[in-house]
Amino acid sequence: MTLRVLVVEDDREIRSLLQSSLSVEGFAVQTAVSLSEARALLQHDLPDLVVLDLGLPDGDGVDLVHELRRQHKVPVIVVSARHQEAQKIELLDAGADDYLTKPFGIAELLARMRVALRHRGTSLAAAITTHSLDDLHVDLTTHRVMRDGEALHLTPTEFNLLARLVRSAGRVVTHRQLLTDVWGAEFSEHTHYLRLYMAQLRAKIERNPSEPRHLLTETGVGYRLADS
Ligand code: CA
Repeated sequence: MTLRVLVVEDDREIRSLLQSSLSVEGFAVQTAVSLSEARALLQHDLPDLVVLDLGLPDGDGVDLVHELRRQHKVPVIVVSARHQEAQKIELLDAGADDYLTKPFGIAELLARMRVALRHRGTSLAAAITTHSLDDLHVDLTTHRVMRDGEALHLTPTEFNLLARLVRSAGRVVTHRQLLTDVWGAEFSEHTHYLRLYMAQLRAKIERNPSEPRHLLTETGVGYRLADS
């Protein structure tokens, strides 16, 4: 089955680079240079994934994320320029699956696309209940967390935080999402909780907590549980 990707990007060079490299990888690629063109294409035909630039001539990519999330489950990967960093959080909270900052490599984009597609697939079929990478194994149904074959003892909050990241393994989860899902909406601004609990989790899970292999920091945005 050929997967279809819609690339929404007004920069001609980046657009044609994405078109050619994604086609080489076997995707059927459609392109749009503006929000209005993207909306027109989306009305006819729903792609399997959208790669979305933020700064578009007729508006802001974030509007399209909101529209897509209201109606569809299509994964959205946002590509943003450096000066749009602050917006990334808003986008992820709005339901974008992931983001890349320009300039980015195609290999990185493909990796993020695979994760987003897999995540959508599995979240429709069955919830993720286990996570394994290198020395770490997490089973959400039995609440067991093992490192190098030995059971780790996590507090309930540490476990809930890890579980939230396991359910989105490979994808960034914003501070706000983590705080809301683990502590509750009234704690959504308490980022010091996260720093504290993340340090505790790393001390238990990571071989070298100062150079984490599993619990990765996305500076200014949130955290990502490595899945490869
Ligand atoms: Ca642009």
